[in-house]
Amino acid sequence: MKAIVETGIKKIEIQELPMPEIQADEVLMKIRANGLCTNDIRDYLGDTVYSFPRVGGHEFSGEIVAVGAAVNPKHFDVGDHVVKYIIPACGECDYCKTGRENLCVEVANSSTFQNPNGLSGFFGMAQYIAVKSRDLYKYPKEVPFTHSAFTEPLACVVNSVERANILYGQDVLVIGGGVMGLMHVMLAKLQGARIILSEPNEERRKLAEQLGAAITFDPMAEDAVALVKQLTQGRGADVVFNTTANPIIAKQAMDFTAAGGQTFIFSSLHPNNPVPTDLGAVHSHEKVITGTVSPTIRTFYRSVQLIAKGLVDITLLLDKTFDYTQAVEAFEYAMRPETFKTIITFD
Ligand SMILES: [Zn+2]
Ligand SMILES: [Zn+2]
Repeated sequence: MKAIVETGIKKIEIQELPMPEIQADEVLMKIRANGLCTNDIRDYLGDTVYSFPRVGGHEFSGEIVAVGAAVNPKHFDVGDHVVKYIIPACGECDYCKTGRENLCVEVANSSTFQNPNGLSGFFGMAQYIAVKSRDLYKYPKEVPFTHSAFTEPLACVVNSVERANILYGQDVLVIGGGVMGLMHVMLAKLQGARIILSEPNEERRKLAEQLGAAITFDPMAEDAVALVKQLTQGRGADVVFNTTANPIIAKQAMDFTAAGGQTFIFSSLHPNNPVPTDLGAVHSHEKVITGTVSPTIRTFYRSVQLIAKGLVDITLLLDKTFDYTQAVEAFEYAMRPETFKTIITFD
């Protein structure tokens, strides 16, 4: 089979790799679509600590072409369209036992990230992958593979938005109108909030309004904190989701948040500089500052329901698709700051 192998910083080759062999409890999945994540771009640019050679790609969908002897065909069979839960959680640690697989203590030791003896990676950018049936989720066949490939990023956003326990009519401020920010807009809207978006790019602000944002503004053009206070009777937003990587904006996220409100640091920070925090205000205003990372098994399931039932329509977030043979072009295209989701397809 062919795979997109990253052999070093900004070095990509299409290589012939051995076909994966499946165990009794696994299926062979033919990958049809894989979304490029900011994390894949950081791999490409060498801004991660993962080892090369690497087969990246963790936002993928495809179909089953073979099933192991122990897989129950009532649940998964040849021809089914599926996605895979991608966190290499051990299933044994305290976090795995309490539904927080995204915090599994073994994940960082996984060969997914560091493999001194061979390829690291999630393997979404290969033609085939062997998958444990317990990690699979089924999609109706009418959902395009380019849509089901959004399951993983949307599941990260489900994890973020669900943890805020948003109440009807609350003010929710989303910082950043990229794919992750816009998915926060859609999910917070479904929870009955009034959505405010902070985003410098006008085209993205317009898209956010189409997807449910009530108010959008350019944070570069005015005193953004004063504006948010003015929009909320001087209080600030009840919930703030920061989807941008800039530490200065993480500080602003806390300033946007009302007394008694919650600030969510959804994005990793690059560079990860310390952010000055007014812990006196955290105390006296009962502010909550927390982070969210990755999807859990449960939010993955929820994400599949949202996409499969058409409750979230990601069509407008899909930017451009490239055949896997044009992988370099796809990465270069996805690197442009104005890009939405770039998808690599396998025939
Ligand atoms: Zn991702
Ligand atoms: Zn674990």
